[in-house]
Amino acid sequence: MSIKEYAKEMIEMDPVFQDIADQKETLWINGAHLPFNLVDGVCQLVVSDDDIADAEKRLHRFAPYIKKCFPETAEDEGLIESPLRDISEMQQALINTYDAEIPGRLLLKMDSHLPIAGSVKARGGIYEVLKHAEDLALDAGMITEEDNYERFADDDFKEFFGKYTVQVGSTGNLGLSIGIMSAFLGFKVKVHMSADARQWKKDMLRSKGVEVIEYDDDYSKAVQEGRRLSDLDPSSYFVDDEYSLPLFLGYAVAAQRLKGQLEEMDIEVDIDHPLIVYIPCGVGGAPGGVCYGLKRVFGDDVHVFFCEPTLFPSVLIGIASAKYEESNVADFGLSGMSAADGLACASPSGLVTRLCGNLVSGDFTVRDAILFDYMRMLKETEDVFIEPSSCAAFTGPVSLMKFEDGRDYLELWGLDESAMANATQICWATGGRLVPDDIWDKYMNTYL
Ligand SMILES: *Cc1c(COP(=O)(O)O)cnc(C)c1O
Repeated sequence: MSIKEYAKEMIEMDPVFQDIADQKETLWINGAHLPFNLVDGVCQLVVSDDDIADAEKRLHRFAPYIKKCFPETAEDEGLIESPLRDISEMQQALINTYDAEIPGRLLLKMDSHLPIAGSVKARGGIYEVLKHAEDLALDAGMITEEDNYERFADDDFKEFFGKYTVQVGSTGNLGLSIGIMSAFLGFKVKVHMSADARQWKKDMLRSKGVEVIEYDDDYSKAVQEGRRLSDLDPSSYFVDDEYSLPLFLGYAVAAQRLKGQLEEMDIEVDIDHPLIVYIPCGVGGAPGGVCYGLKRVFGDDVHVFFCEPTLFPSVLIGIASAKYEESNVADFGLSGMSAADGLACASPSGLVTRLCGNLVSGDFTVRDAILFDYMRMLKETEDVFIEPSSCAAFTGPVSLMKFEDGRDYLELWGLDESAMANATQICWATGGRLVPDDIWDKYMNTYL
């Protein structure tokens, strides 16, 4: 495949882009990452603290409904939240196996086990569906914001939503989250799935009455076609992973909640106790929203790195080239299928690459094969199962200090030995709970 002119120029200027084209694991440090106070004002024009607080309030309004319909959320009173867990055994195993330097404390944010959708998509995806349902119900005068939202479970609401369609393009997990929640509320649902999507995710959706449309093409095409078909139907709403603000807000809410969890664990975050977060990244929606929320809450005390497959470093390329959604991994000669199905996006979100372009610290690329090794290691050391895509996060703590650019980054931001000894490093586990047992067995025996 031919490499585009702009990509050739980038490769000539910086060897990291040669690694990208060669499908080598690498770390790209974002040269446009700025101190938070320089970016804060401009960012707030697009997504403000009030917007995020408003999203959190909406989720609270829906909490009685969620609690009623999904008893697994009862413990959190109908809020869709996941545990933050110490994984010191895994930390030690990573250090020993990969001869890695991982200072401080290593934690796992278990969005892999979020209720309802079993992935990080339970944040943004479910939030956007709930917001759409609320907008329709408010417009129709069926409810006021002061009412008890348990009423959304009533038959007249289901009948009402049955007149409307929700559509989404997905590599799998977003489809699951939008599909499950929309079908539950009574919407007709169509999920447009890319070729990378797993069969069991399609089967699960169909079993819930969702129409699954399969494409023999990549994720961008599935989104494009879904958007086009939805736009032809006035009663259809398209959840647009490449541009959606509601999705972004649903993800961003995670940050305040994480802050509460860190406080509960007596973990300090300040200039002497840095927080370093690694998030698997596909089109950028989920990691972008979480990153944005974290920067708003912790400012320069948090350092957020995305982790992408060597075949699909779409967000990395989108930000580094400043071509945003116009860029494509094919421009660097990359093509093929990834075992990290949840991350297989060729072009990034225009919204996220712009909004996070000055906020994200950098981006790791990771080979498919090692994801399965990390997955087995986490199962053995902590008895936790997360899906292969999720395991991309472990490349962060393992590799950060191996790359010269990583060590330079730490020095530039004043993260010396003593600060790093006090660091909290978080791997964001993004999916896994809904994976069927026979698929787990297959994953456990996959050696690439
Ligand atoms: C969707 C997904 C991601 C990344 O989210 P994007 O919004 O596509 O960047 C990461 N891990 C898993 C398991 C996912 O399903």
